[in-house]
This record gives sequence, structure tokens and C-alpha cells, in this order.
Amino acid sequence: MKKTATILSAAYALMVLTLAGAALQACCCQNGFDAREKEIIDRQDGVMYVTTLPQDSVTLRAPSRDLSERELRSARLRKLVDGMYLTVTDPSQDGVGIAAPQVGINRRIIWVQRLDKEGEPFECYLNVHLDSLWGEPRRGPEGCLSVPGMRGIVRRSGAVLVSYLDRESLEPRKDTVKGFTAVIFQHECDHLDGILYIDKADSLYRSPEWEAEREAFDYSRPEWWKSPAMPNKCNNQ
Ligand SMILES: [Zn+2]
Repeated sequence: MKKTATILSAAYALMVLTLAGAALQACCCQNGFDAREKEIIDRQDGVMYVTTLPQDSVTLRAPSRDLSERELRSARLRKLVDGMYLTVTDPSQDGVGIAAPQVGINRRIIWVQRLDKEGEPFECYLNVHLDSLWGEPRRGPEGCLSVPGMRGIVRRSGAVLVSYLDRESLEPRKDTVKGFTAVIFQHECDHLDGILYIDKADSLYRSPEWEAEREAFDYSRPEWWKSPAMPNKCNNQ
């Protein structure tokens, strides 16, 4: 009898722990932007602060997660993607793409300039993933807003299959992209996995011209800026 009671107590305790664990996971994965992220987005009124190595390594090296349903339908998401667009198209930069960790938000959001389309428009991709890579490999120079003053030669696949949510309808979409635009997708999606082009480059080099570029863009860190306390910490509110 006593043994049975002990087993039942243990089973009850296990159930409580399991439910508590599920609640914690839901808290971390289902809620919206945390207090730090809200401040970054709410203060955005133009070109955003761009995270750089080494001072923003925690953000740049953390994996980004998909936006939750709540985040996808929030006004903050619109404000965030608007700010990312203004940042990548700033005249002092020659950007062709940007990923959300570059403005301090670890979510799977990128802007890519579609050089393969007429008019070469910038397009935004939410919850973006590369389903497959193929095609003739190509080696070419790359730079990054988050690694200013530097370039490197990187080997990339010639084609990618991209899955994402349409920015307006939030419907799932897929697209096949080839050529240099496929390279941009690979560079930006690497950011979402905490990977930078310098990790893959055959060679890295600097030039005075790119140093001038670095000086032209405002990389100064705002006083209110806070780095994440620790990766994957559950501090949603
Ligand atoms: Zn980059």
C-alpha cells in the first residue's frame, strides 16, 4: 500500500514537472518580443543601429527563431521591417541584403535586393528557410554591414529553394533563386544561424576604400542599447 502511494506520488510529481516544463517552453516560444527587443523596435525612427563584431557577438552568433503568430500579427513587426529596410538602403551603404540579428533581433527575417527581377526591388522574407542548395558552385567577393571595412572570397551554391511567409498575406511561399541573388539569400540566411561570411571565406582582405565606407556609416552604439543578458533566456513579458 505504501509502495503504491509512493509510486502514485512520484507519478504526480512527474506530471506536475512535465506540465511546468511545457508551460515554460510555451512562454519562450509563443510569446512576443521581450522588453529589450521592444525597446530596440520602439526607438526605431530611421536607420537602425547595426550590430558589429566583436561587441555584438552574442546577438550575431545566436541562432534566430521563427516569428510566433503573435509577433507576425503585431504592429511592431511592421515597424521592425520598415527600420531594416531604411538601414540596408541607407545611401552611405551599398547593401543588397540585411538580416534581423544585424539590428539586434534574433528572428528569421531578411531583406534581399532581387537583382534577378526587373527594377531590382528589395523584398522582405519572414520565417525564411533554405530548403535546398544546388547548382554550379561559384566563388565571389562578399562584404557585410556587421563586419565593416572588410571583404572576402566565399564559395556558394548557384541556386537555392527558399521557403518563407509572404509579408502581407502571411501565406507560405516557395521560390527558386539563381545566380548572385541566390548568393545573397545564402549570406543572409547564414546570419539567421549565427554564421558570418568570414567563417566560410577562403581569404579576407581590407582596403582604404572600405575603411572610408566604415567611417561614412554611423556605427556608433546608442547609450540605451543593451546586449542580450544570455542566449535563449526566457524573459518575455
Ligand atoms: Zn552580412
